Amino acid sequence: MLYILFLYTVFVISIMALTERKIIHIDADCFYAAIEMRDNPALKDRPLAIGGSSERRSVLSTANYPARSYGVRSAMPVAVAKRLCPDLLILPGHMEKYRLASQQMHDIFKQYTHLIEPLSLDEAYLDVTQSTQCQGSATLMADRIRQQILETVGITVSAGIATNKFIAKVASDWNKPDGLTLVTPKQQADFVAAIPVKCISGIGKVAQQKLAELGVYYCADLQKVAFSVLQKRFGSMAFRLSQLALGIDERPVQTSRERKSISVEHTFAEDLTGVEPCLSVLPELIDALQKRMTGRGYEARLSKYYLKLKFDDFKQTTIEQPIQKKLSTAVFSELLQQAHSRSKRPVRLIGVGYRLSNVISSQLLLPF
Ligand SMILES: [Mg+2]
Repeated sequence: MLYILFLYTVFVISIMALTERKIIHIDADCFYAAIEMRDNPALKDRPLAIGGSSERRSVLSTANYPARSYGVRSAMPVAVAKRLCPDLLILPGHMEKYRLASQQMHDIFKQYTHLIEPLSLDEAYLDVTQSTQCQGSATLMADRIRQQILETVGITVSAGIATNKFIAKVASDWNKPDGLTLVTPKQQADFVAAIPVKCISGIGKVAQQKLAELGVYYCADLQKVAFSVLQKRFGSMAFRLSQLALGIDERPVQTSRERKSISVEHTFAEDLTGVEPCLSVLPELIDALQKRMTGRGYEARLSKYYLKLKFDDFKQTTIEQPIQKKLSTAVFSELLQQAHSRSKRPVRLIGVGYRLSNVISSQLLLPF
């Protein structure tokens, strides 16, 4: 009987080992600023930031590390950044250069796997579980990718390697800039326990506050909270939270072809009360959405507008509308008003995006 149990255990463990994935998350270090410093090395040690897109110069899109040492951050209003760092040099962005660098990075990724999920121009997940390069070592592959990007593009990237997307993404941030962090299946439990809950995507200031009230600052603390308590406080988000707290994340790496939707969402530091403040942040979200879509070739596959609101009671509502012939971002305002009228509670998160179809349409006239 014991022998059978032993065999069964060996069987289960080997199945687990067989299905263990190898995910690499690559993220360029202060991407836009790095490209500008590459092209003008005299800027290297100066605090430097790149202004937002053409109409929205008032917000920074990237800051280099000397600027960050003053507390300057991306998405920070220029006025605030200047107050923190009066010598801050603010340059306009050069999207063409960034797009080219992004393409070069992508071409390097393709040498290792076809399972690539780009998150933005400078960030991607790679599933290298089946890759045979570097004797199948994900760490060696990540190392080589970093080296090739340095040689070809002239910038540094950081890499995180783990068995799933959540841990790989946190890991790539662990030793930034120019870092490589491997989290082996054996180290995983300890690594996850030490992750601050604010690193979980969707945990903004309000949720952080709610968790702090429960004495929760790290995933280790979160693991101890009863599911019923989480459910009461976080509604539909509770399940995801409890899974991530244990380092469980089954989401596959989705290539652009398989992708069903593209969206951006933002959790606000303070809940937005009333529909007007929500409408006023919409243009920024739409900008971010367009940025995320840049160069991905999704335009011909857009099928529906999509908008999501999450309220302060953590209940959420989504609304969709088929895209008629012409794409119009004004539709998002209408959808926002409709969605908002469903609850009227303060809003903690807004998401905007598009559903994608696999049918290519040439009918759409695009504004970007
Ligand atoms: Mg980056």
